[in-house]
Amino acid sequence: MNHAPNLSTADIQRVDAAHHLHPFTDYKALNAEKSRVIARGDGIWLWDTDGNRFLDGMAGLWCTQIGHGRREIADAVHRQMTELEYYNTFFKTTHPAAAKLSEVLAELTPEGLNHVFFTNSGSEANDTVFRMVRYYWQLLGKPSKQVIIGRNYGYHGSTVAASALGGMAGMHAQAGMVPGVHHITPPYWFDYGGDMSPEEFGVWAARELERAIDELGEDNVAAFIAEPIQGAGGVLIPPETYWPEIRRICSERDILLVVDEVICGFGRTGNWFGSDTYDLKPDLMPIAKGLSSGYLPIGGVMVSDRVAEVVIEKGGEFYHGYTYSGHPAACAAALENLRIMRDEKVVEHCANEAAPYLQQKWAEFGEHPLVGEARMKGLVGALELVPNKPNRAERFDNVGQVGTMARDFSFGNGLIMRGVRDALIISPPLVMTREEIDQMAKLIGKTLDDTYAELK
Ligand code: PLP
Repeated sequence: MNHAPNLSTADIQRVDAAHHLHPFTDYKALNAEKSRVIARGDGIWLWDTDGNRFLDGMAGLWCTQIGHGRREIADAVHRQMTELEYYNTFFKTTHPAAAKLSEVLAELTPEGLNHVFFTNSGSEANDTVFRMVRYYWQLLGKPSKQVIIGRNYGYHGSTVAASALGGMAGMHAQAGMVPGVHHITPPYWFDYGGDMSPEEFGVWAARELERAIDELGEDNVAAFIAEPIQGAGGVLIPPETYWPEIRRICSERDILLVVDEVICGFGRTGNWFGSDTYDLKPDLMPIAKGLSSGYLPIGGVMVSDRVAEVVIEKGGEFYHGYTYSGHPAACAAALENLRIMRDEKVVEHCANEAAPYLQQKWAEFGEHPLVGEARMKGLVGALELVPNKPNRAERFDNVGQVGTMARDFSFGNGLIMRGVRDALIISPPLVMTREEIDQMAKLIGKTLDDTYAELK
C-alpha cells in the first residue's frame, strides 16, 4: 500500500515544509526553495516525483554500496519480519540473525576483531566507543585515562558524544562540547601542508598526536579516534606516511586506536575496510552505512580481543544498550547485503575495475583550470576548486560559496555530488560499470565547465 496516495509533488512539499525538520538543513532556506522529493531508486539512479533522473554520486549518504532497489534484500527482510519481526538482545537473549551476523562480521573484519556490539547508527556506535573506552581503562585500574583525542574536520555523528568526538566547529558552537575530548590538526595537506612535501607533512600531522599526549599527560589519555579517510570533512586522504606513524604512537604510548569505518568500511577504499588498506590494527572499529548498504538502519562497534578480554573477564554487567541493538530485520538486511557483496565480488570490482577507471578520469579533472587538487582512493574522492590554479594556497573569498554553486550545477546536470567548503566530493555505489562511470564523468566535466563559466 502506498502511504502517500495521490499526493502531488507540491502537496508533499507543503506538508513536509509544515511539519518536517530535516537533518543538517537551513529550514528557512529550504522552505523558500522546496525540498526535492525522491520517489524511486534503481542501481545507481534515483528519480524524483516529477520524473527527473539523477545519478547518485553519493551512494545515498555514503552507504548504498550495492546500489538501489535490490529485491533480494526486501525479500530477506520480509522473510525475517514474518518469522520474528522484533525481539531484543538484552539480558542473555539472542536470535538467529544477530548471532549469524556477528559471526560473519568477525570473519570479514581485520584479524583480532572478533566481537561486535550492535547499534542502529554510526553515531550510536561512537557513543558506545566513548563509554567502552573509559570502562576499559577503569577495569584495568587506570581510571584517569579519560581523554579521547579526535581531529578537526573529523565527523563521528550527531549524538552528544559523537558530535564532541568529531571536529566540526559549527556543531560544537551550537550545542557545546563535552569535557574530556581534545582535537588535533587533520592530515589535510592541501590546506595545511605549506611548504612541506605530502610525505613530510604526513609525519608532522601524525606527531600532532604525540605532542597532544605529551601536553595532556599519557596517564590521562584513553584513545585516539579517526576515520581512515575523513569523509564529511571533505574526503581528506592522508599522505602515505601518516598512518604508520599514528599506529606507532598509539602502540608506544599505550592508548587505544579507534578507527571509525562508518564511511570507509565495506569496500569503499578498495578493500573490505580502510583498516586493511592502511594496515591499522584497530582496537575498536565503529561500522554502519555500508553494512546494510543503507537498506535498514544498523551499525556496530567491532571490538578487538585486547578490549573484549578485559570487558568480558574483568567487567560485570556493561550498563549500555539500545532497544533495537541487533534488530532482526536490520540484521537480515545486513546479512543479505554482505552475501550479495561476497557472491558478486563487489569489493574486487571496486578495487580492480571501477576505482582504477574513475581514478584515470579524476587525474584528467586535475588538469581543469578550476581544480587545484584532484584526490581519490578507492571510490571516494574530492576536487578542490581554486580561483587561481597555479597558486595552491589561494582560496575563494567567502569559503563555501563556489562549492555550493558547483554542487547546484551538478544537481541541475542530473548528478548528485556534495560540496564541502570549496571542494566537490563523490562517493558513488561500488557496483558502477565503466559505461556508468563514463556517463558520470561527462556530468562532472560539464559541472566544472558550468562553474568555471559562471565565475568568469
Ligand atoms: N562516523 C562517520 C565517519 C560518518 O561519516 C558518519 C555519518 O556520516 C557517522 C559516524 C554517523 O553515522 P550515522 O549518521 O549513522 O549516525
